[in-house]
Amino acid sequence: MMGPSHALSGAAAWLAGSWALDHFAGYGQSPLTVAVGATVCAGGALLPDLDLSGKVTRNQGGATVARTFGVFSLFAAEVIEKISLGVYTATRLSRDPRRNNGHRTFTHTLPFAALVGWGTTALATHYGKWAVVGIIFFMAGLALRGLFDGWAEKAGWVIVTICSGVIAWLTAAMLPGDRGYPMLGFAVGVGCIVHLLGDIITSAGVPILWPIPTGRRMWRMVGVPNGLAVRVGGKVETIVLRTAFTVIAVVSIAAMFAPGLLHRFEFDAWADSAP
Ligand SMILES: [Zn+2]
Repeated sequence: MMGPSHALSGAAAWLAGSWALDHFAGYGQSPLTVAVGATVCAGGALLPDLDLSGKVTRNQGGATVARTFGVFSLFAAEVIEKISLGVYTATRLSRDPRRNNGHRTFTHTLPFAALVGWGTTALATHYGKWAVVGIIFFMAGLALRGLFDGWAEKAGWVIVTICSGVIAWLTAAMLPGDRGYPMLGFAVGVGCIVHLLGDIITSAGVPILWPIPTGRRMWRMVGVPNGLAVRVGGKVETIVLRTAFTVIAVVSIAAMFAPGLLHRFEFDAWADSAP
């Protein structure tokens, strides 16, 4: 899938999950906590494609997400692609083809999702609020870039960077300083897994089984069969799926927070009629 669809699916998954937790397990969250989680999860759902670099020197190419912070993220993508290729080459078995590009390898595995999720929580726990500001800044940038692709393209990466900074600063000012760190890492990890699911339904697939070897292959690309696969950037993706993700997101928000509003409204009506 393309960047905007990945980001939207991450936000929708987090919002639907938050609603389910609230509804079935009685685990309610404040609107701010849900918003932070959905933003971080949307950003996390773009993270695996940071392995698609472009022309760093000319500030061109790369995945949507690699252009988030201009040449800085393009350079990071270049490094991540090379590291991924290194992991691929070091662990490939005799039936795995030789590769000279690391896209859709290490960052598209479950161990990577677990690693960045754990790493995020470890950073936040160890370094506290400043790490949280940094994490939210980075993830909000990715989310903005993905969710508002057209705007981000026109506005340019400097504006996107400034907006992410403002979001991170406001969130840090409002969030309690010592809570919710495991949630940040969890949101990043869930986002990565949602990304893998999004790539599985396109025909290229992802090495979801890594590092479990099957038939002398460690990097078997798993995806749905060609006839059923969603064409990247096709109508099913840009219209059907994006509409579905948006509806899921909006309904989840309404289900979580509208009953509360209604409740308050009734309470106010009662208060007005009281003597
Ligand atoms: Zn991908």
